[in-house]
Amino acid sequence: MQLLEERILRDGKVYPGNVLKVSGFLNHLIDEHLLDEIGKEISARFCEQNVTKIMTIEASGIAIACAAAHYMHTPVLFAKKSKTANVSADCYSADVVSYTHNNTSTVIVDKEFLLPEDRVLIVDDFLANGAAIRGLRSLIEQAGATLVGCAIAIEKGFQKGGEELRAEGVRIESLAIVESMTDDSLTFRHQN
Ligand code: 5GP
Repeated sequence: MQLLEERILRDGKVYPGNVLKVSGFLNHLIDEHLLDEIGKEISARFCEQNVTKIMTIEASGIAIACAAAHYMHTPVLFAKKSKTANVSADCYSADVVSYTHNNTSTVIVDKEFLLPEDRVLIVDDFLANGAAIRGLRSLIEQAGATLVGCAIAIEKGFQKGGEELRAEGVRIESLAIVESMTDDSLTFRHQN
């Protein structure tokens, strides 16, 4: 998606540990116009899939999920990071290793909100090693629901998540795939 790639080149910042900061337009200060265009693009790619629910993890995926949900006319269910060790029997739960915080958190969703008949699209801001998607996929499987695919704003193509998940048969649509990045250069993978 050209608009997103141009914005990454203009305002993205590369930090140690292969972290790309997009705080100035996507996940801290949010450019609403760009967000809306991202939502439209995600909807265009998955509109034939009869999606009934969009899922993401708090916090940075929520805005993008809502932008897509606006065009797809679906609710957004975000997995919450559980603050207590004891997870209630009313919840599905999964452990997720956080790429940026370097810790593991348990994420939960209320069983009431994820149903066997749901057709779920996962939406997130980044795909790196795939832990967030795997955690969400686990919640979807626990509910007996169907994973339709994943829509990601920015995939870091030099990390293993995208390749592994695609090899497992998961449909991943990334609006921008960063092929390589250093302090002073960033390249994108050309997509058809
Ligand atoms: P994964 O679980 O695929 O390893 O990492 C994806 C999650 O980690 C996303 O939910 C995102 O919030 C965070 N993340 C991974 N890499 C980056 C990055 O380079 N920049 C930012 N801002 N977040 C990232």
